[in-house]
Amino acid sequence: MDNIELKRFWEKVKEELIGCLPESTHPWIYSLEVSGYDKGILTVVTGQSIARDWLKKHHSEQINNILKKVANDKNAGIHIVYDENAAKKIKKEVEKIKKKEAEAQLKEQAMENLSYMQSSANLNLKYKFENFVIGENNKFAHDAALAVAKNPSGKFNPLFIYGNAGLGKTHLMQAIGHYTIFNNPKLKVKYTKTDDYINDFISNSRKTNNSIENMSKFNKKYTNIDIILIDDIQFIESKEKTMERMQQTFDTLYQKGKQIVITSDRIPEDIPKITEALASRFKSGLMVELTPPDFDTRLQIVKKLAIDNDITAEEEAFKYLAYNFDKNVRELEGAFTKVCAYAEFNNKPITLNLAKEVLKCREDKNSISFDKITEITANYYDVEVNDIKGTARSQKVAAARQMSIYLCRELTNQSFENIGEFFNKKHSTALYAHDQIKSKINSQKELSNAAREIKQALKVN
Ligand code: ADP
Ligand code: MG
Repeated sequence: MDNIELKRFWEKVKEELIGCLPESTHPWIYSLEVSGYDKGILTVVTGQSIARDWLKKHHSEQINNILKKVANDKNAGIHIVYDENAAKKIKKEVEKIKKKEAEAQLKEQAMENLSYMQSSANLNLKYKFENFVIGENNKFAHDAALAVAKNPSGKFNPLFIYGNAGLGKTHLMQAIGHYTIFNNPKLKVKYTKTDDYINDFISNSRKTNNSIENMSKFNKKYTNIDIILIDDIQFIESKEKTMERMQQTFDTLYQKGKQIVITSDRIPEDIPKITEALASRFKSGLMVELTPPDFDTRLQIVKKLAIDNDITAEEEAFKYLAYNFDKNVRELEGAFTKVCAYAEFNNKPITLNLAKEVLKCREDKNSISFDKITEITANYYDVEVNDIKGTARSQKVAAARQMSIYLCRELTNQSFENIGEFFNKKHSTALYAHDQIKSKINSQKELSNAAREIKQALKVN
């Protein structure tokens, strides 16, 4: 019998054994490995001496009968051998399994700890670097935040992130927190809204009459940390006592070499009645600004939102959203949520028309739209809107196109990215068209008349 035949033979015997012997013996049978078959004697090896003893004592007759049947040899018999090497092998395997289980348990524990840490640090799980879409408007701020996350209390301390509402300040700031908790779990992170800090300070002063002992408790709460994230610092305006306390908090942390990250909707100087001392501290590290995202970034943001929420929509619907909500990502997200909800309630797919239907209230509010401007301009020049938005190059269409673009910019003050997108042109083309008209309009009567008449028709003059 060669090796393969031997293995096959043993498989057959094993199958019969499993079929005949009680279930409690099955693990032992599985532990047996065949080692040879010679002169009617099948030798099998086990690393468990109890398997050998038990099977021999209680089942040797059954086993031998099975063997005789399978081998078709009435003299056949089995020889079960205990082997130390096999025992070692089994021990190793058991240890491996145990180790794996322990690792899995550890991992689970770590995830639990992580989510506990994240919630105790007061962070929103969505606000991670992975969920942040990078565009030209936020790349610098993003890179700065990531640098701080990778190397807290390094070169950029404090990091001061400022910009209008809904542009991702809180998101970036909390991303630093998540990153730290995940990669550097020994560091203590605290996220605090300035409002909460103020309230905490006021209620503490009231309760304690500013007693040194209790104030030091308050201090500890805000300084016994490695990274503090203070959101919306502009709310500290005019609160002189709180500012004083904040300055002490800041100095303590700074001296201890702790990382401070601050956000604000404006630069420090513009916070009413801010003390010069505090403002200069805020400015002493790195200041980065978030500006509104361009069209492509906005488009990516809604698309990512759709992917993350497992939602599909018509490309034009995404564009419509990105195009109309250009100042505030929170509003862009809100509009998307509204469209999704409407589609879901009415069991309809998300199309451009549906998005228009749901969000029209906002469009109406937009006193004047690109659509309207282009329609009236096309009328004036006696061309088709589609030609203006298309690639036609006739002089009349080109003139109408330049005028539409010029008026869109002048009347809505929208970015050239947005205007370009509407006309299916590059941002530089829109800019060029606008500048062409602008440079000539005062000297060419034909142009100024056209602009005036179109504006009259639009009722904006
Ligand atoms: P701020 O604090 O500046 O007012 P937030 O950080 O709260 O703004 O952002 C508002 C919303 O927009 C959040 O839901 C945030 O996740 C989202 N957001 C802002 N910028 C981006 C971006 N670049 N990528 C993905 N989501 C963003
Ligand atoms: Mg915020």
